[in-house]
Amino acid sequence: MHAEPVTRGIRKAAPRPDLYEVSHLADPWQAMTAELKPPISHQDAFLEAYRCLLCGGPLTPAPCILACPAEVDVPSFIGAISVGEPTEAAEIILSANPLGGTCARVCPTEELCEGACVLNSTRQRPVDIGRLERYAMDHAFNEGDLLVPPKPAHNGKKVAVIGAGPAGMTGAFELARLGYKVTLIDSRPATGGLVRSAIAPYRQLRDPLDQETARLWELGVEFRLDTTVDGELLKELEAACDAILLAVGMGKDATTGCKGGNLDGVLASLPFIEKIKSADLPSVGDRVAVIGGGNTAMDVARQSVRLGAKEVTVLYRRSLDEMPAYAVEYEEAIEEGVRFAWLTSPLQYHGNGRVSAIQCSRMELGEEDSSGRRKALPVDGSDFLLEVDTVIEAVGQTPRADFLAIIPGIEIQSGLIVVDPETGATSNPLYFAAGDALGGTTVVEAVRMGKVAALGINANLSE
Ligand SMILES: Cc1cc2nc3c(=O)[nH]c(=O)nc-3n(C[C@H](O)[C@H](O)[C@H](O)COP(=O)(O)OP(=O)(O)OC[C@H]3O[C@@H](n4cnc5c(N)ncnc54)[C@H](O)[C@@H]3O)c2cc1C
Repeated sequence: MHAEPVTRGIRKAAPRPDLYEVSHLADPWQAMTAELKPPISHQDAFLEAYRCLLCGGPLTPAPCILACPAEVDVPSFIGAISVGEPTEAAEIILSANPLGGTCARVCPTEELCEGACVLNSTRQRPVDIGRLERYAMDHAFNEGDLLVPPKPAHNGKKVAVIGAGPAGMTGAFELARLGYKVTLIDSRPATGGLVRSAIAPYRQLRDPLDQETARLWELGVEFRLDTTVDGELLKELEAACDAILLAVGMGKDATTGCKGGNLDGVLASLPFIEKIKSADLPSVGDRVAVIGGGNTAMDVARQSVRLGAKEVTVLYRRSLDEMPAYAVEYEEAIEEGVRFAWLTSPLQYHGNGRVSAIQCSRMELGEEDSSGRRKALPVDGSDFLLEVDTVIEAVGQTPRADFLAIIPGIEIQSGLIVVDPETGATSNPLYFAAGDALGGTTVVEAVRMGKVAALGINANLSE
């Protein structure tokens, strides 16, 4: 094994791939699955762990812990790695986050723990917390050690968890750990929710979802996959269970509603990514336009580059200042060659059978709207045509309105379930809720909400 050079006492970062190079690999599948944050070697992990100042204490938690929605004790797990105890590190991570292996790969660490690292204020790069977490989790899981806590005695109470994405998996895990008989139900044939179907393959293809799921099995969680909860099943669950945790996430893609949206080559982001994740790579041609300015838009643009498109342009109706995507996502997309057309909105898709051009309007920013962002207004007479082979709309997801409508007495606001943030309790005492269905946007936030709801259910049923 060879060590990275040491520069003026500050060790350089463990190697990361050159983004332009990996996103333009000749084999699209290789480009699609080349990890943005590949695993680090034992030696790199050891040396990186030594950079951590192990700050904080019982009365002043370290900034990285405060920045982690799952409250993982970062200094403790890094301390364990630095003394050669990666399994102990994994145990520390899993005690706070049953999806620690997934979060190590998919968390926006630059915005969370690494963004809060005190080394940033000393003009050094932050500790590579995500990759150290990955190192510890991979070590344990590769050794075949699932680190399942002891199975508690059954407390006589039953909970159904609807949705086996990150929020439902976490809720089910925490409830099983407390002695509840838990049934985890999902329409899909496998656990993981959007992690399995939508998170970019260069962050996580599948692993370690299977190990994280196996930990639930080991704790005695019963799985009912390939099962959609409808009104009838809901009644059965209501009769059989002491509580129901709703962890149903959000539904299909929203659409721009542009005329011509049914032309071939006009795609919605979620089915596009799901096809890629199942290794069935779509063909996008040379010129791709992505509509939207969120993290999903950045993902589908970067995936289009990997599929071999020569010109990938993100059309966003506001400007960079208002764009909701994380700064790091934008910067990495630029590095990979994605272009941005600011203050540009699609009006209509044109084509004969297949889309060939987008009629766009230039926009200008007006007064702030109710969300506090400046309204984007079309500039009269500014229409122009952009030639394209494929359009991918990535303008958000719609709520699961039909399903939520069958649940008696739960309050919904703007399509999101309203809960007590301290307990996850809805306005119907039998139901608790967690995850994107309440308005979350990351896996680790769904994990946090799953934990809150499990503790809320426990407090309610222990009264
Ligand atoms: C394209 C995309 C990329 C993303 N990338 C990242 C990323 O890199 N990092 C990150 O942290 N986050 C990312 N996210 C966000 C993250 O995936 C979500 O915040 C997280 O998955 C939410 O978890 P959840 O459990 O609330 O919902 P979901 O993951 O959506 O899971 C909900 C589950 O409920 C099931 N379900 C729904 N209704 C029913 C029913 N009636 N009966 C049975 N089952 C039902 C669904 O089948 C689904 O499996 C991304 C999201 C998208 C869309």
